[in-house]
Amino acid sequence: MIPEPYGGKLVENIMNENEKQRVLSDKLPLITTVMEQVYDAEKIAIGAFSPINGFMGSEDYDQVLDKTQLSNGLPWSIPIILTPTDRSINALKAGDEFLLNGLDGEPFVLVKIEEKYNIDKGRFAEMTYGTKDMAHPNVFDLQKWGEVAISGKVKLIKRLSVPAAQYEFTPKETRNIFENRGWKNVAAYQARNPPHMAHEFIQRMTLERDDIDGLFIQPVIGKLKKGDYKPEIIMKAYEIFIKNYYREDRVLLGSLSIAMRYAGPKAVLLYAIMRRNYGCSHYIVGRDQAGVGSYYDPYDGQRVFDRYDIGVKPVKYDEVFYCTKCGMMVSSKVCPHGPEYHIDTSQTKIRKLLVEGKQLPLEILRPEVAKILESGDVINQ
Ligand SMILES: [Zn+2]
Repeated sequence: MIPEPYGGKLVENIMNENEKQRVLSDKLPLITTVMEQVYDAEKIAIGAFSPINGFMGSEDYDQVLDKTQLSNGLPWSIPIILTPTDRSINALKAGDEFLLNGLDGEPFVLVKIEEKYNIDKGRFAEMTYGTKDMAHPNVFDLQKWGEVAISGKVKLIKRLSVPAAQYEFTPKETRNIFENRGWKNVAAYQARNPPHMAHEFIQRMTLERDDIDGLFIQPVIGKLKKGDYKPEIIMKAYEIFIKNYYREDRVLLGSLSIAMRYAGPKAVLLYAIMRRNYGCSHYIVGRDQAGVGSYYDPYDGQRVFDRYDIGVKPVKYDEVFYCTKCGMMVSSKVCPHGPEYHIDTSQTKIRKLLVEGKQLPLEILRPEVAKILESGDVINQ
């Protein structure tokens, strides 16, 4: 069964033409905020964060931080809040409306203010990322956020312009696609890198399961961190990979433009909730998903599903590598051979070989994907 949206109802706060005209002719203030919150605003409106239909108020915010739940008791791991960086927000009060500036300087959502409250960024960092260390990319980014949070319902005027916009489905759209294809049990594959052999192995193992009808590969292509591949590259690599190696009727490629949260298990929980809204019954969790540095236990992302029931079944995988003795991709669950027989397929290794202009063996990367990555187009700041 395609699962119900999280909390029972899919949020769809999208304006019709009349509303758009009224709102745009009202001369409402245009407010700017950080990129990660711009992405979140759009995802709230299209229902990716259902049942949340606006930026969180202080009650939800506190409960998410302290108890990993919304004020209605539903498990929720990371606050979705708006803290504008624009000083003109100070003049606005509860009941006022404003437009939020999209990445192109144009308004894309309307926000109606319900509450203004102060946030303590140290507490946010500690409770969400488990650290206040500025070396953590998301903790670092918090410095740029405003100090005052604004809660309120969000309504979409237009979609954001992002790279590979044709892949930015709404949850309603993917649900329709799954239904039209007759998929009832869909596994979501979260990615933030172009596909290499270890990813492929995990995807194939999932497609082989008789309780899975289809695979929804949905890379996060919003704000990534320095050294990550650019969104266009990730999507192009997946496009050509799927075309060459998978059955078209078993796989759907989409993209998710949100800021990557490197919050280990808390990020896994949030991403799995979002994928339930997109219509997925299962969620694939490998080793150290949404991790960075050594802040999180690499397998806690799998155990988090035992602590919180979000109505999504985890599909868990151990670390995967190529074993020269077994002669195939394996995991430590199966392979008896020592590390001297194992080929590291990490992104770091791939990048190193590409930079050195070396040929990547098939045990690591498909040649079609290697060709795209050779351009070396990565985020530099
Ligand atoms: Zn082996």
